[in-house]
Amino acid sequence: MDIGHQGLARYPHLFIGGEWVAPEDGGMMDSVDPSTGRPWATVAWGGKRDIDRAVAAARAALDGPWGRMPGHERAALLYRLADLYQARAAELAVLESRDSGRALRESRADLGAHHNWYRWFASLADKIWGRTVPMDDSVHVFTSRLPVGVVGAITPWNAPMLTTAWKLGPALATGCTVVLKPAELTPVTALELAKMIEQAGFPPGVVNVVPGYGAGGAGEYLTAHPDVDKIAFTGEGNTAKAILRTGAETLKRFSFELGGKAPHIIFADADIDQALNAATGSAWAVCGQSCALGSRVLVERPVYDRVVEAFAARAAKVRVGMPLDEATHMGPQASAEQLAKTLSYVGYGKDEGAELITGGNRLTEGAFGDGYFVQPTVFAGVTNQMRIAREEIFGPVAALIPFDGEDEAVAIANDTTYGLTAGLWSQDVGRAHRVAARIRAGIVWVNTYRYIRWTTPYGGFKASGWGRENGVEALDSYLETRTTVVSTTGRFPDAYAN
Ligand code: ADP
Repeated sequence: MDIGHQGLARYPHLFIGGEWVAPEDGGMMDSVDPSTGRPWATVAWGGKRDIDRAVAAARAALDGPWGRMPGHERAALLYRLADLYQARAAELAVLESRDSGRALRESRADLGAHHNWYRWFASLADKIWGRTVPMDDSVHVFTSRLPVGVVGAITPWNAPMLTTAWKLGPALATGCTVVLKPAELTPVTALELAKMIEQAGFPPGVVNVVPGYGAGGAGEYLTAHPDVDKIAFTGEGNTAKAILRTGAETLKRFSFELGGKAPHIIFADADIDQALNAATGSAWAVCGQSCALGSRVLVERPVYDRVVEAFAARAAKVRVGMPLDEATHMGPQASAEQLAKTLSYVGYGKDEGAELITGGNRLTEGAFGDGYFVQPTVFAGVTNQMRIAREEIFGPVAALIPFDGEDEAVAIANDTTYGLTAGLWSQDVGRAHRVAARIRAGIVWVNTYRYIRWTTPYGGFKASGWGRENGVEALDSYLETRTTVVSTTGRFPDAYAN
């Protein structure tokens, strides 16, 4: 990291074809520190010609030695990347906190685990194989699994390096090549990752990193590019729809990890203190900016008042502060736009008759005044028809909805356009299984929450996405299946013989 004359960290280059190059038709953009509202880094962004160069480099790598490299050698490179990543995780966590505003204690825990993803995908790289398909004696049929090709990876700003690991890992394990376009709000760590890609010894062009803009910028060019085979995207549903429209022209493959409005169900027979630990933690983590969070807290009526009261008491314990302060639980929102969105939803909640129990305001005192800080917020008396229960806010706003009994809990839980994550708390094993089996979501946590690992498939039902990341399943959307049919006789009937 260079420090330029204005005290900004400088990242003047894109990483294309194994080289650090100046943008051809891009420029420099500022990355703003959300805790001060001021730029802290200046970063190169790429335009159309830069995307063209990056895609050409990725294609050349696929057609070069990388395309012929056996799985165990790809694995060795991924293991090396994991080692380098692990060694620099603490430093990367600081950069990610500066870029995104996320509290350092959260970034540190998050980035401190990412090497496991690279190791997991390394361990799978030499286990990508097809099947033999038994038929009659006249043929030998088998399938092979081939890399889908050049992958455009488009990542969001809320968990930049985690969502990158979820894409790079399976892409590299399967032998694809990648053009990574990080979010414009958080481009810095992707460029640091590029240094590790280089150091690990991946052949040039296997991974290219081009920061840039979304609509009308590098993200859209990547999506439109005829030589990109697949887009792997994490972000908002509306952006996914735009990506689909652009990518339709070239009939690309897509994997999408989109939003959520997760039900976090607390039955009266739950261990309420444990449930509260999970429910409050997952309401306000990452300042509410994660699609996995339990933003709809469904509480069985006999314990509803108790849970509401406890939520408010726990909100008072959340230390909102500067992201790099070790004591801080919750940093600012990642952008002025995100802050405004959260505050507008607080308004909708009040207008629609929900009861604001605590929070709901921007923090403006002293040093907070320049940043995008907001209080942890709790609404009670929420119905599932209100906007704060239906739409993804991406702010630290918990909506507490009362229910009576299992059927109503399931009905409310599933009455959403989303289906990414869900949680339920009950000490009745039968009930836990019954309810979990009825919830339409990609992952259901029982008496725990946000347990997400490299081994656990993750992705959405309904509007929450297409495909799965993590687990062995993550490989599927980076592979094509080829069926080979070999005749054992070499004889083929003449259709026109008689
Ligand atoms: P948010 O709206 O919450 O900031 P997005 O879903 O728009 O999040 O952004 C996620 C990623 O998608 C970013 O890297 C962004 O640049 C990119 N992006 C946004 N719009 C487009 C688009 N039309 N085509 C391709 N990428 C896009």
